[in-house]
Amino acid sequence: MQRKWMEDVCDTYTWKSPNNYVGSEKALSTSMIGLRIFDSPLLGVADARDPLFEKMKEASVIGQHVLAPTEWLPQAKSVISFFLPFTKEVRDGNKKIADWPSQEWLHARIEGQVFVLELCRYLDSILLEAGHTNLIPATDPRFTMNDKPPTFTSNWSERHVAFVAGLGTFSLSKGFITKKGVAGRFGSVVTSLALTTDVRKYTEIDEYCNHCGTCLENCPVNAISYEQGKRHEPCGAYLDKTAVKFSPRYGCGKCQVNVPCEHGIPVRTNKLMQTIRQSAINFVEKDR
Ligand code: SF4
Ligand code: SF4
Repeated sequence: MQRKWMEDVCDTYTWKSPNNYVGSEKALSTSMIGLRIFDSPLLGVADARDPLFEKMKEASVIGQHVLAPTEWLPQAKSVISFFLPFTKEVRDGNKKIADWPSQEWLHARIEGQVFVLELCRYLDSILLEAGHTNLIPATDPRFTMNDKPPTFTSNWSERHVAFVAGLGTFSLSKGFITKKGVAGRFGSVVTSLALTTDVRKYTEIDEYCNHCGTCLENCPVNAISYEQGKRHEPCGAYLDKTAVKFSPRYGCGKCQVNVPCEHGIPVRTNKLMQTIRQSAINFVEKDR
């Protein structure tokens, strides 16, 4: 199976699937009907035996509970990771109000995740048709989601997988910056098909983040700091509040819009300017 062909069919699927659009039966308002959630996906491929998958088991990375690709699927040869960037309409929608998620963002977060799993299943189906064995960790019965303290980590991390697959790097906001930005969702499929792997164009874990601090300023609950990055507790507590207000939906994403990494890799700022900016913010925060 050709890699290019796989990218093309995923692209076509994303544009054609009705589930990448908000239907009238689900729309939060009439202006949301027909909203397209995602642009064309970015695909990355990792070797299922890449040593970084074992490194994830270290306590300083994720921990022993994370499963390597061959633990999900013993015959695994490759892991296909994808990033689905949110459309301009979704990103712009969330810029209109500062404190609560926009309707566009709520749809993108919830209906968007349904489409992410649909694209995983689609990839699975075309690989299966070509005679390969596959597994989607996010829908496997062994998948455990842990968004509570102390770990806040699942036994399969889409963003860590994306890092191994060459899609990009982490950021100060604990988001993940790809060449199509930080605003979007990730998915992956483990397969027995041996594909050509992507070369990582970075060495540092947060290389694409320029530490400009804009995400920190956007956060409605000051959950992000230069010293600690994003703290999960205040962010999670805020998301819980949105879940009450917007039930059954929730979300925030203010650290992913109106930021230089929103839809691309940000330009690196001068190191001296970063230091001055950081000192100024620290000084102002001390006086609050
Ligand atoms: S807004 Fe700036 S500091 Fe925050 S993640 Fe993006 S590039 Fe990094
Ligand atoms: S999702 Fe919202 S609350 Fe959480 S870190 Fe980002 S801006 Fe802050």
